[in-house]
Amino acid sequence: MTANGTATIDAPRAPLTSNGSAPSAAARAGGGEHPKLFQRVRDQMDRAAEAIGLAPEVRTILSSPACEIGVNFPVKMDDGRVEMFSGYRVQHNNVLGPFKGGIRYHPDVSLDEVRALAAWMTIKCALVDIPFGGGKGGVQVDPSTLSRRELERMTRRFVYALGANIGPGYDVPAPDVNTDARTMAWIVDTYAATLPPQERFRALGVVTGKPVSAGGSVGREKATGQGVVDLIEMWAADQRCKVADLSYTVQGFGKVGSWAARILKDKGAKLLAVQDATGAIKAYTSAGLDADVLAEHVKKTGGVAGFAGAQATSREAFFATQADVFIPAALENQVTDETARLLQVRLVAEGANGPTTTEGDAVLRERHIAVLPDVLCNAGGVIVSYFEWLQNRSGAAWNAAEVDQRLREILERAYARVKQMAADKSLDWRDAAYAVALRRIEQVYGERGIFP
Ligand code: NAD
Repeated sequence: MTANGTATIDAPRAPLTSNGSAPSAAARAGGGEHPKLFQRVRDQMDRAAEAIGLAPEVRTILSSPACEIGVNFPVKMDDGRVEMFSGYRVQHNNVLGPFKGGIRYHPDVSLDEVRALAAWMTIKCALVDIPFGGGKGGVQVDPSTLSRRELERMTRRFVYALGANIGPGYDVPAPDVNTDARTMAWIVDTYAATLPPQERFRALGVVTGKPVSAGGSVGREKATGQGVVDLIEMWAADQRCKVADLSYTVQGFGKVGSWAARILKDKGAKLLAVQDATGAIKAYTSAGLDADVLAEHVKKTGGVAGFAGAQATSREAFFATQADVFIPAALENQVTDETARLLQVRLVAEGANGPTTTEGDAVLRERHIAVLPDVLCNAGGVIVSYFEWLQNRSGAAWNAAEVDQRLREILERAYARVKQMAADKSLDWRDAAYAVALRRIEQVYGERGIFP
């Protein structure tokens, strides 16, 4: 049992249907494993801890999540059958504040993956110095196989199954892969229904990334992409070049990838190639692809494949496209030993969480390709989530300029801290980012001590 009495789990139970028959397509789709992902985060923390002589007890605490919740829950399907789904919420560490992190719907969601994603949130929030800890959740499902009503019922039932394990001052989810503002609105509504009527006003703060009309913050939808672009701009300034002169490629054209590309378009950068789950496309000329038109196409068709303004290409050719910047904004483990050797870029700006494997990282180092690591580069989302949470608590509504400016200030401070740490300790930027975060966590444990 864990600290709050919830059973720790190792693996989901096999999904069963109501009549005990074979699992459905949705259930069968689940269960993919990333066996080494949480170990990769631990190794990464160890490397940074070693470099800065971190207090050993901090390393020990962070090497295991504080709490792991696994739930199997029934959902009524449109045809009257009942299917079982498996979901997780991992709460890694909350010494800096409430657990914070997205909820993902994907067939490959596994406990190991959610553990890693939760630990990355701990590091990210500490690095950018906002009062949140790290958490993450997910359901093993391919949402494209469900109707909108099934998706809504599944979301509501998952929230019901999580019960008091989430809450505004305790654990605050947000959108991630295949979840969005609409999903967050269903979560608020379901969570509110579990509270006594007099307390329902509290429900708004249970998640961030809500629709603006339902208590969300302006600027949250684009926040992660905005942060990616802000950081590319800071890197470009250090290289004495302008964003308008940069060309780039993007993997994943969902919330993060499409917003980064649309903002980069406004700044004059050229989008040369894109790859997502449906295929890869490249621009006909060096003028690049129109990110806004492509975003419309993706909205209509579900992916970049078949976009009239570009030609189809292979995954290998996509990775080998000559450009200044590559923005991975899809899933983990994309920049590997093999794909890192294909890249013809100066910078990898990690919009996704964990896109680069340990082997991929070694190749990037060897090839002197700079990296803006995920825990820094995609932190814009959780920073504006923090703004949303503050607005919900205070009843205030900030305007877009205020959100953008405060986001920029926090990212500039984090960028400067990582740069300083990298210079002081001769570390690469990933190690330096972890080192900054670990120092921040160490400081709090040093001040508070460890109970009893
Ligand atoms: P999304 O669901 O909006 O988009 C995911 C994209 O990845 C889609 O374009 C999809 O086609 C693509 N994709 C899926 N499988 C792929 C594959 N095998 N190869 C290539 N592309 C593939 O998700 P998102 O919110 O944009 O998240 C993308 C990444 O950014 C994730 O790693 C997520 O954890 C991270 N992230 C998201 C946020 C946020 O605010 N949404 C914040 C920080 C980090």
